[in-house]
Amino acid sequence: MNQRCNETKVMRDPIHEYIHVDYQIIWDLINAREFQRLRRIHQMGTSYQVYHTAEHSRFAHSLGVYEIIRRMVNEVKGLDAFLSEVEKIQIMCAGLLHDLGHGPFSHFFESILTPNHEQLTAMIILGDSDIHRILVKYASDLPEQIVSILNHSHPNKVMSRMISSQLDADRMDYLLRDAYFTGTSYGTFDLERILRTLRIIEDRLVIKESGVHSVEDYIMARYHMYWQVYYHPTSRSIEAILYAFFNRMRDLIVKNPRYLDDYPMFQFLKPDHEITLKEHYQLDESSCFYGFQCASDDEDKILSDLAVRILERKLFDYADFSSSDDYALMKLRLIDLGFDPIYYLYMDKAEKRPYSPYNEDTNLIYILMPDKTIRELSQVSAIVNAVVYGQAKTEMKLFYPKEVNK
Ligand code: ZN
Repeated sequence: MNQRCNETKVMRDPIHEYIHVDYQIIWDLINAREFQRLRRIHQMGTSYQVYHTAEHSRFAHSLGVYEIIRRMVNEVKGLDAFLSEVEKIQIMCAGLLHDLGHGPFSHFFESILTPNHEQLTAMIILGDSDIHRILVKYASDLPEQIVSILNHSHPNKVMSRMISSQLDADRMDYLLRDAYFTGTSYGTFDLERILRTLRIIEDRLVIKESGVHSVEDYIMARYHMYWQVYYHPTSRSIEAILYAFFNRMRDLIVKNPRYLDDYPMFQFLKPDHEITLKEHYQLDESSCFYGFQCASDDEDKILSDLAVRILERKLFDYADFSSSDDYALMKLRLIDLGFDPIYYLYMDKAEKRPYSPYNEDTNLIYILMPDKTIRELSQVSAIVNAVVYGQAKTEMKLFYPKEVNK
C-alpha cells in the first residue's frame, strides 16, 4: 500500500498552489472512472448561474480535500503518535473519495434521489466499481476501512474528524475554493495559520489559543458564504425549477412507463427503483442537460416549459413567505394564470448556523489554552459566542413564475 510513485506528481491548483501525489494508490484512484466522473458535476450546484465563474467541479474540490489531509498528516505536530503510515494513506484515500456519491447539481439532487450522497459513496467504494478494484489490489480490507472513516465508525476518531467535523479538511477546502471561484472575499481565512496551530490531544483535533482568530475568521467565512452565496435566492429559484422538472417527469413515468423510452438518462426515476452503480455512473450534469434538451420538444407542455426555463435561464420570481395566506393567495393567482401550482409554486426554507456548540462531544472545535486546559471554542471567542447564541437566521421564500413563458 505504501508503494510510492517514481517521483512526486504535482497538479497546479489555485487554492493550494499544487496538489502533491506521492503514493501510487492515490494516483490510481484519481484515474479511476468513478473519480473522473466528478469532473462532470459542478461543486456549487446551480450557483454558477448566479456567479458566472463558479464553474469548478467536485473533482477539483476532492483533490483539494486530499491535499489538506496530506498536509495535516505530514505537518501537524505530534500526529505520528496517533497514525501509522498505512493509516495516513487510508485517510488520504478517504479524503480523496469522500464525495464520490454526489449527483448532478450537488446537494440539490438529494431532494430527488435516495440514497443520499454519503450512502452512494459507500456503495461505490464497497461495490462493483473500478475504485473498489483498485483499493483491494492494495489491501483487501481497504474499502471497509475507508467507509468506516467516512461514516465515523472507525475506532480512531481522529481520522474521521479530519475529514468531517466542524473544522475539517472538507469545509476548509470548499470555503476557500468557492470564495475564489465566485470572486467573493467572504470565504477567505488563514488556512496556513490553522494548520500551523493544529494539534492532536487524546482523540481530538485542537487549535492552540494563538490560532483562535483564524478559526473565528473561518466561522465567519461559513456564515457569510451561506447567506451571500450558497443560499442566494437566484440559485434557489433554479433549484425550484429543477425540482418541478423532475417531479413532472416522475409523474409522467408513473402514468406511462413507456415515457422513459425517450429518456434513458432518467431511468433512476422509475417508481420503487433503487439506483444501480451503472446508472449512477452515467448520471451527471451532461446527461441531465441532454435530457433537458430532449424534453424542450416534449408534447407535455409542463415538461417542455420547465426544460426551456432551465436551458434558457427563465427563472422563477420569489417573495418572502410570512404566513399561509401568502401561499394560498399565490396559489389562486397561479391558477388564474393557467399554471399548475403543484409544479409552479415552491416554498423553501433556509436556515443555518455557522457553528453549533450543542451536540455534546461530537466534532466541536476545541482550543488548547496556554495553561494546557482545553476549552470549547464558543467559551473562548466572544465573536463565535455572539454568532451561535444569537437568534438563528431563517429565511422562507416562495418561488413562482412571473408570467407565461413565451
Ligand atoms: Zn466535500
